[in-house]
Amino acid sequence: MKQQTAGIHHITAFVRNAQETVDFYSGVLGLRLVKKTINFDAPEVYHLYFGNEGGSPGTIITFFPWVNSRKGRIGAGQVGVTTYIIPVGSLDFWKERLNKLGLSYTAATRFNEQYIQLADPDGLLLEIVEREAGPRSGWTFGGIPVDKAVKGFGGAILYSAAPEKTSNVLEQVMGLEKVGEDGGYARFQATGDLGNLIDVNLTAMPFGVGGAGTVHHIAWRAKDDEDHANWRKAVEESGLQPTPIIDRQYFNAIYFREEGGILFEIATDPPGFARDEPADTMGEKLMLPEWFEANRTQIIAGLPPIQVRVLEADQS
Ligand code: ZN
Repeated sequence: MKQQTAGIHHITAFVRNAQETVDFYSGVLGLRLVKKTINFDAPEVYHLYFGNEGGSPGTIITFFPWVNSRKGRIGAGQVGVTTYIIPVGSLDFWKERLNKLGLSYTAATRFNEQYIQLADPDGLLLEIVEREAGPRSGWTFGGIPVDKAVKGFGGAILYSAAPEKTSNVLEQVMGLEKVGEDGGYARFQATGDLGNLIDVNLTAMPFGVGGAGTVHHIAWRAKDDEDHANWRKAVEESGLQPTPIIDRQYFNAIYFREEGGILFEIATDPPGFARDEPADTMGEKLMLPEWFEANRTQIIAGLPPIQVRVLEADQS
């Protein structure tokens, strides 16, 4: 049977400053820091995960904040724009909020939907759109009432070096369905209700350069380990070259580069972020895999202190 992903599992990007990243994704966007851990290959660097209340697949953006990182350039071979959805009727609230916080944004329309587009402190491109789809987060922070809270990903805009080939991979390998074209974008739909609308920019553009302010990879959802094994087989049979299955603590992963140059991952929904700490306090404590526990004190000493804090503008 043909494999079909439910949509985006998570998106991982590079940034420079850990506290600025927390202040933006938790402070401005109101996401929950659901996991505070380290880059398992570079324990002097955090790996921070932000999502909805439960840390559900389809809501998770992750960062490796590295202060000495070179600045990247967004372009072909990358996820160009990450799309968040907010409840219907809350776009004006978000415009007023960004105004209040002194953050600039632009308006855009695609597929008859109104978007506001903005950049995070490192220049990573984001957009916000109202949609009925997807459960409410349940998480709220700072100046954001629960009925206006970001629900999770709506999808993403892919900047491919070969849009037709990427479109083909989305349809033939990932099992998405093409649902339309509009203004230089092709839209593909996955079966889930979050992270399920993927737009491919059909316009040619220069290659991107990895670094701060760019997405490193986009991960797609697999239901469980059995489904994941089937995914690996399907990717291999398509002629693409998946890595072996890698244990990422909170999910299992395979990676492959699709034909338009974008790094794809397929990640399992289980076990999730409550694997190693209680769900109601997730993200508060630095979590380390067992093999790093003996070095906890040194690891903490090498990391900049960070805190999830309400922005000053939200305190008045
Ligand atoms: Zn990943």
